[in-house]
Amino acid sequence: MKLQILQNEQIAGSVMSIKIDNPGLFTARAGQFFMVKINDFNYPFLRRPFSITYFKDYIEIVYKIVGEGTSMLAKKQKGEFIDMIGPLGNGFEIVNSKKILLVGGGIGFAPLRFLKEELKGRSFDFDSFFGFNTKDEVCVDFGNIATMDGSYGYKGSVIDLVKDVIDEETLIYACGPSVVLSKLSDICLEKNAKMQVSLESRMACGIGVCLGCVIETKNGMKKVCDEGPVFDYKEILWEKM
Ligand SMILES: Cc1cc2nc3c(=O)[nH]c(=O)nc-3n(C[C@H](O)[C@H](O)[C@H](O)COP(=O)(O)OP(=O)(O)OC[C@H]3O[C@@H](n4cnc5c(N)ncnc54)[C@H](O)[C@@H]3O)c2cc1C
Repeated sequence: MKLQILQNEQIAGSVMSIKIDNPGLFTARAGQFFMVKINDFNYPFLRRPFSITYFKDYIEIVYKIVGEGTSMLAKKQKGEFIDMIGPLGNGFEIVNSKKILLVGGGIGFAPLRFLKEELKGRSFDFDSFFGFNTKDEVCVDFGNIATMDGSYGYKGSVIDLVKDVIDEETLIYACGPSVVLSKLSDICLEKNAKMQVSLESRMACGIGVCLGCVIETKNGMKKVCDEGPVFDYKEILWEKM
């Protein structure tokens, strides 16, 4: 579906926010994503997956410029159209719990911002923890922030910031690099906490056809695009990620 760009602007270092007209034809849940065709012509050939950061009167995607596709996306102007397929994937399962924590590493905060809105709508209590390398990359306006170089908030990793808050009554919703998720997983296992993780594996089709995003889990091979991207952390074979 071709949707019109309302705004596409830098919000931090190499992080952009693109706001797109929401035609109101579908619903979405936090953790779902769109496959975005960057150009009208077939280059880059493959669509790129992006989580939904906001979904109401408009759709917002927050993305980090890492390569050719995201560099081209950053040049799109207000008024242009982009072709998007979605919302795709399972999304987070919202479960009430005594202690809910949102934990994001880098651009992994993107689906958690949408989740925050969904939790607020249900009057659930929660707290948020996000980690970035430096102040330049900080692109969230809520939660507890850690930066590796100490240039903003707590000095150190988001794991160091959050680990003492986790106990057996905690339910974590997490997204970020697999190294962060894997460390969180160790802590959750040790403390008997619950966690749903959103994986950002590379994928080509986004609809379960090409098998490009398959991962090995304790329950067999799973497609991140249509059986995920959200999984129970205990299902993941972290050493294979
Ligand atoms: C379900 C899902 C949701 C995502 N949501 C977001 C989001 O909300 N915001 C956002 O910024 N990014 C998100 N991503 C990652 C995003 O899709 C990639 O950054 C993007 O496709 C890169 O395209 P590119 O052409 O710019 O980079 P490429 O030229 O394809 O690659 C540039 C570099 O980035 C690395 N790279 C590319 N894709 C990934 C990936 N998925 N994981 C790790 N490294 C990668 C490549 O190995 C290479 O080193 C998501 C990925 C998935 C699977």
